[in-house]
Amino acid sequence: MRHNPRKRFGQNFLIDQGIIAQIITAIHPQPTDQIVEIGPGLGALTSPLLQHVSHLDAIEIDRDIVKKLRLEFSPDNLTIHAIDALKFDFSSLGNQLRIVGNLPYNISTPLLFHLSLFSAHIFDMHCMLQKEVVERMVAAPATSDYGRLSVMLQYRFDMEYVLSVPATSFHPAPKVESAIVHLVPRPSTMMNAHDDGLLSQVVAAAFSQRRKTIRNTLQRYLTADDFDRLDLNSGLRAENLSVNDFVAISNFLFHRIDQFY
Ligand code: SAM
Repeated sequence: MRHNPRKRFGQNFLIDQGIIAQIITAIHPQPTDQIVEIGPGLGALTSPLLQHVSHLDAIEIDRDIVKKLRLEFSPDNLTIHAIDALKFDFSSLGNQLRIVGNLPYNISTPLLFHLSLFSAHIFDMHCMLQKEVVERMVAAPATSDYGRLSVMLQYRFDMEYVLSVPATSFHPAPKVESAIVHLVPRPSTMMNAHDDGLLSQVVAAAFSQRRKTIRNTLQRYLTADDFDRLDLNSGLRAENLSVNDFVAISNFLFHRIDQFY
């Protein structure tokens, strides 16, 4: 059964066996791992993963692909959830999940935020994403790539850039370069925001005009006095603040939370 790649589902299938082998080596699957693959497609990663584990769960939105996979793999080895990964309840599968996904680029950011809701159930994740997105995710403060995505994901995950993947490794070749990133949920003992929504609001406001100082972008939230009490220089820009600085600001504002919702 031939499958014509569907653009609306971001279907670019991995065909480079060398890259596939490097991804599997990076994942380093162990027989007892509970692997969950997002978007298995034609099985480029599914088959080699099943050489290391006897069973895995996969979430696939394209019903034609689901049919194909059901013919190719035994349900003893592959449980397919025919659903949109953005709506999937990952906590239903366990609490030491190893997530693997060559993610559709059009939904990669909402999907990462959806997955971050389940970080207590996740052991780690290896994701293929647009290279520029990975660079922004792992960016350090005071660099041009450091922004809202970096802060909000670094708050939840320790992340590492694993591997660059050229466009020619896929069929059809996407217009952009790709990269694999490894994400490990940060332990809950790390500095936590009292309210994640408030943290998210503050970070969004601070980066809304990245050339402006936080005195300007955060004027709805902090007075000159507040900056002093936080021991924070209001002449800085958002890109100069660490993840912990943002958490400290949102926790400082927590007792006035009613003003911001
Ligand atoms: N893993 C395969 C590979 O590496 O060749 C396919 C990768 S392809 C970039 C993305 C896959 O995710 C496709 O199979 C596509 O149908 C599926 N997909 C797209 N949107 C999805 C969604 N919202 N939920 C689950 N799967 C989705």
